[in-house]
Amino acid sequence: MKVAFAGLGVMGYPMAGHLAKAGHEVTVFNRTGEKAKAWVETYGCRSAPSVADAARDAEVFLLCVGADDDVRQVVGEALPALPRGSVVVDHTTASAEVARELAADAERRGLSFVDAPVSGGQAGAESGQLTIMCGGDPAAYARIEPVVAPYTKAIRLMGGAGAGQLTKMCNQICIAGVVQGLAEALSFARHAGLDPMGVYEAISKGAAQSWQMDNRWKTMSEGKFDFGFAVDWMRKDLGLVLEEARRNGAKLDMTAMVDGFYAEVQKMGGRRWDTSSLVARLEPPKS
Ligand code: NAP
Repeated sequence: MKVAFAGLGVMGYPMAGHLAKAGHEVTVFNRTGEKAKAWVETYGCRSAPSVADAARDAEVFLLCVGADDDVRQVVGEALPALPRGSVVVDHTTASAEVARELAADAERRGLSFVDAPVSGGQAGAESGQLTIMCGGDPAAYARIEPVVAPYTKAIRLMGGAGAGQLTKMCNQICIAGVVQGLAEALSFARHAGLDPMGVYEAISKGAAQSWQMDNRWKTMSEGKFDFGFAVDWMRKDLGLVLEEARRNGAKLDMTAMVDGFYAEVQKMGGRRWDTSSLVARLEPPKS
């Protein structure tokens, strides 16, 4: 199938690579040209000099960029160039509002738009093990499901336009609470004179077990945050969550509090640190 992929960042680069390895005819576009050049050297296929050029003959146009305005810009350039009947798949974590707006624009042009944010991070993108939550028309979803399969562990259509983004917001609410819980448990263990890794061994097989505990407890206890999902990205996501909650009336006391804690981490110099750096507020890294 002829597909295009815009945004070869930490996530998009390996995702587009999986599409090429699966045998699709992939055209990539990246704003910074060197990344597209490196991608073509690794995976073959071709790169395009503009979004419109990448979109011109794509049956499926995928993107994974930064935030709402980036999605508006890239999709705004792609829609007029895409052949009728094509589907746009947006893997960016963005607002439900932008998804609804672009789905309506796409429909007016005889195209479809599926919001399809992902969970699983850089490791999931590289290993092809992402969880994808989608919003859009069921017929468009049925067309894109096999296309994204090479980098998918689990995928689900959650409802109409924006429902994928709303589901991703639930995901981020859960992560905020779990990571703050781990940070407090770790700090408490130290104050209580317990060995942090001993505590992990004792509780990680019980009801407190979580992905974050299995993958982040050790590095949190070592004060290592130079990897993973950046605090700046998490603040963007929690901003989307809190804005949506103001609209729909959900009461998110804990999420709002943790968002404030992440603002403190940013002030400590942790803008690019992994989200597990919440513990640095409680146990400042030793300099
Ligand atoms: P990233 O490494 O910063 O890559 C962003 C990509 O988008 C780059 O290729 C960038 O181009 C491109 N881009 C940004 N704004 C653009 C614009 N206005 N026009 C054209 N291209 C633009 O980010 P990432 O980590 O891959 O994350 C991408 C999205 O996935 C974000 O919404 C993020 O929240 C979400 N996400 C990330 C993770 C993660 O663990 N990293 C996990 C789940 C979801 P340049 O190369 O020119 O800058």
